[in-house]
Amino acid sequence: MPSSQRRLTATFKSPNFGLRATVPLAHGGGIPWLGLGVWQISGDAATERVVRSAIDLGYRSIDTATIYGNERGVGRAVRASGVPREELFVTTKVWNDDIRTGRVAEAFEASLRALGLDYVDLYLVHWPIRGKVVATWKAVEKLLLTGRVKAIGVSNHMVPHLEELLAEAEVVPAVNQIEFHPYLQSRPLLEYCRGKGIQLEAWSPLMVGGAVLQDPTLTAIAARHRKTIAQVILRWDVQGGIVTIPKTQHQERMAENAAIFDFVLSEEEMAAIDALDRDQRTGADPMNVPF
Ligand code: NDP
Repeated sequence: MPSSQRRLTATFKSPNFGLRATVPLAHGGGIPWLGLGVWQISGDAATERVVRSAIDLGYRSIDTATIYGNERGVGRAVRASGVPREELFVTTKVWNDDIRTGRVAEAFEASLRALGLDYVDLYLVHWPIRGKVVATWKAVEKLLLTGRVKAIGVSNHMVPHLEELLAEAEVVPAVNQIEFHPYLQSRPLLEYCRGKGIQLEAWSPLMVGGAVLQDPTLTAIAARHRKTIAQVILRWDVQGGIVTIPKTQHQERMAENAAIFDFVLSEEEMAAIDALDRDQRTGADPMNVPF
């Protein structure tokens, strides 16, 4: 086993490995391995309630976006939580309309206002828009200099988009947030990002509650560990070095999804899950963004 892998394995067995454990990012600081996604939680009151529950349960990372329409609720929960701001990690994203019209700086200001925060921990370019990849990244790089965003990154960027971006970039994206679950593993992209020091983050890790939650291989592994399939998938993410942000509005599931730090998948089990890849997307193809 290579020494970096041994170090990772040691980390995952540490009693301190949990919701507060972070992985270092290229721009300094660290992102928690597991956070809460809030896509499709509608309304500020509901969002505030869900995010508050998550923070009370120990979650420290929240993933929102302008297009989710719930930044206000996220911000209210963060501010009311009583947890010091520096212990929380808030991600938001610039939406495609603002990318197309070149209004990245204005969109960022609007997000900060909606959140009611002085800074965000991670600001992501939501989708690669043809012809705008480099200009958008340049605008986001400028935001990093203001200190009101601690790290900048991209989402849904495939290798060609990253090549285009990196050819002109001064700062490498700290994160690439992509659709990633056992049925869609994009291994070449993963390796490419690893090679560039870009941290992978999995969206729709549970395939939006879809078919993967009935998979027979995962069912067998889950039974062996007395865990649920969701827990096995999320454990496979972090044990494989991938940050993940499952969404749920139910407190029991928040607790379930967070209970992944007390067991270890064997190398054989990791390999068996790796072998489930079938290149199956639930979301849009980033090579052809239709919205
Ligand atoms: P997920 O894969 O996280 O699945 C969420 C669905 O699974 C919900 O219907 C939820 O239901 C259900 N669920 C959650 N936990 C469990 C469990 N333990 N057992 C069974 N079902 C469960 O899908 P998302 O698409 O929401 O992805 C997660 C996050 O990623 C988003 O919320 C968003 O923050 C981000 N994202 C980013 C995108 C991007 O383009 N950058 C695109 C899509 C998502 P319920 O809520 O009823 O419990």
